Amino acid sequence: MTTSAANPVRVRYAPSPTGDFHVGGARTALFNYLFARHTGGKFILRIEDTDQKRYNPQALGWLLGGLRYLGLDWDEGPEVGGDYGPYVQTQRLDIYQRYSQQLLESGAAYRCFCTSERIEQASKELQKQGHNPGYDRHCRSLDPEEATRRAAAGEPHTVRFKMPLEGEITVRDLIRGDITFQHSILQDTVLMKSDGIPTYHLANVIDDHLMEITHILRGDEWVNSLPLHAHLYAAFGWQPPVMAHLPLILNPTGKGKMSKREDRAPDGRILPVFVRTFHETGYLPEAMINYLALVGWSFDDRTEIMSREELIERFTLERVNASPAVWNYEKLDHLNGCYIRSLSVEDLTRRLVPYAVKAGFDVTYEKMLPVTPLIRERITTLVDVAHAADFFFLAELPPYNPAELIPQKADAALALTVLEKAHSRLAETEFTHEALEAALRGEAEALKIKTGQMFQPVRVAVCGRKAAPPLFETLQVLGRTTCLARIEKAIGKLKNI
Ligand code: GLU
Repeated sequence: MTTSAANPVRVRYAPSPTGDFHVGGARTALFNYLFARHTGGKFILRIEDTDQKRYNPQALGWLLGGLRYLGLDWDEGPEVGGDYGPYVQTQRLDIYQRYSQQLLESGAAYRCFCTSERIEQASKELQKQGHNPGYDRHCRSLDPEEATRRAAAGEPHTVRFKMPLEGEITVRDLIRGDITFQHSILQDTVLMKSDGIPTYHLANVIDDHLMEITHILRGDEWVNSLPLHAHLYAAFGWQPPVMAHLPLILNPTGKGKMSKREDRAPDGRILPVFVRTFHETGYLPEAMINYLALVGWSFDDRTEIMSREELIERFTLERVNASPAVWNYEKLDHLNGCYIRSLSVEDLTRRLVPYAVKAGFDVTYEKMLPVTPLIRERITTLVDVAHAADFFFLAELPPYNPAELIPQKADAALALTVLEKAHSRLAETEFTHEALEAALRGEAEALKIKTGQMFQPVRVAVCGRKAAPPLFETLQVLGRTTCLARIEKAIGKLKNI
């Protein structure tokens, strides 16, 4: 199908609400979105909920929430409407009935009255004879008038597609090229179930036609549906959309498809696969979009960081790879860190607050604002605020090992002296960066010790750990009362060592 200004691109993301929103689906949605925005076309969201057995009532919420978080706004679909609705397939059942009837009348499909027991039996029989398992096409030869009579009398039945028995069909895929399928290995697939609900294939083809979809961009796992869909378009006398099957996403090891479940890394960190978890863990939508765009597409062989606008400007189907893409958490983390550090302090603060609240901190935007610059280099995802900033917000420091208070090449006695001196100086010093620095450096000089030996006990006393943000800013943000109280506690710990 050719597109032009008069006949613009219309693409759709057509998920089935059967479970959580996986990043594989998000990648498909993103490519459709980028293609639509690049060409000035329309991005449509259609809910394919005809598989009632696998329906999950929470899935739609996860999906819409995930798309909103990623900023993949759709032009037509649930919640926004459009001229081609309804956009939920179970609200279109009468449409599918009409078209199913049309296929029966033209002889492209037939009614099947076989029970599931019979079908199973026949499949075993086929296998025994050395054929592929499947339906033995028992009802294909029924007299159509007789079949119509039986159906009218209320006999339960499905509607199956009458696949050619011999020969082959070649289907063009924009990414994979021409693909040829032998009819002999294809089935007479069910189009309409006995409860009057269509299967994916029938509903999908009808809707893509009625919604005037110009290009189908979907996951590789649908390639095997191509011959049936091509025959369905032909049976209806419709022009099929351009097909483009996106490359498979492989596990980080490069072996096997990316997991459908969430596992933990050896260090205990969760390895998200659902959009909801990426959101909850604090990946920025900017980083997600940027990373996902690179899963199976590239602008050139160098450019990694690209904003939404740049991706929209640069995205073309010609640069989508045919070969599988390997998922890479390190690369995503790297991008997320880059985006975190590129945000203004105010913007980052606004985004950190909900994660800090969730971590149980007594925090507001105003309280977070001075802390943000101190931790921004130390976090990969927003949820890291829970660890990176705990000592700013928790009344009590998490327990730490008092031995950490003792600097290298020194003993507890020195650490004690350092803390006692620090305490008396901090009790009177003005809490500005310069004054604090001058005070502690002066003390180190007076004690004839290295500044590191001076700073470490103080740092551990106020932060509860050695790896912490710059000391003077930290002291300043914490304030005199907290610093003195924590140093007193540390002195107590050292005395009991
Ligand atoms: N409902 C299918 C899915 O869940 C859509 C496949 C397609 O895009 O045609 O992935």
